[in-house]
Amino acid sequence: QGAISFKDVHFAYDPARPILKGISFEVPAGKTVAVVGPSGAGKSTLSRLLYRFYDIQSGAVTVDGQDIRHVTQKSLRSAIGMVPQDTVLFNDTVAYNIRYGRPSASDAEVKAAAEIAQIAHFIELLPEGFETKVGERGLKLSGGEKQRVAIARTILKAPPILILDEATSALDTTTEREIQTALDVVSKNRTTLVIAHRLSTVIGADEIIVLKSGEITERGTHAALLEKD
Ligand code: ADP
Ligand code: ADP
Repeated sequence: QGAISFKDVHFAYDPARPILKGISFEVPAGKTVAVVGPSGAGKSTLSRLLYRFYDIQSGAVTVDGQDIRHVTQKSLRSAIGMVPQDTVLFNDTVAYNIRYGRPSASDAEVKAAAEIAQIAHFIELLPEGFETKVGERGLKLSGGEKQRVAIARTILKAPPILILDEATSALDTTTEREIQTALDVVSKNRTTLVIAHRLSTVIGADEIIVLKSGEITERGTHAALLEKD
């Protein structure tokens, strides 16, 4: 479920400056496709188009064969879980932040999601547990802890599509490896679009697409791309 297709997608924020110049690729249902490339190549723009922050100027983006312009924004976004580079948490409790993906979730479900994201133990040791306030006016979480909260939120939301937009890029190497392990669990059997700038972080992807200046310059498995270098 959640098969994604970009067909000859053109996009510019400013008509005088094209950002995506005819992008075509597919993420088959349940598979993981990674887009790598230098900063400014247009990688994040792809995820913003899929989420419909912007509409494309020509071509088509489809989910399960349906043009996303014909899907309500609400139903499109409910099908997508996004883990960005820097998760910004609400000034509210840990439980509220995890539940944001599915407000009706029970305490037990919140805790189970936190366990999979490997942050439950940490939260339970806090004096107020899951009711601890986080953010500017509460507990300061590290970058890795915030990403774990974002992962727990996504687990609870259980969307068919997952976008990981540089989700580990801001972390130190050790934390990056730990968070990657949690992300691998969430992305397994889920249609996943990974945005990354280094090839080394997307070894497990079913296909890797190299994007440069808004064009796909190479594509293949990790092993195949390494051989070409
Ligand atoms: P990447 O994720 O590969 O670093 P982005 O998709 O974020 O690249 O950006 C591609 C290009 O589009 C960059 O030159 C960037 O400056 C430009 N850009 C990104 N967002 C906007 C925006 N909201 N308005 C205008 N230009 C933008
Ligand atoms: P829903 O539509 O399911 O209520 P939202 O669209 O508000 O959910 O957000 C869903 C998830 O995507 C949240 O975790 C939110 O933090 C994240 N998100 C929303 N907008 C962005 C964005 N521009 N960049 C990265 N993540 C985002």
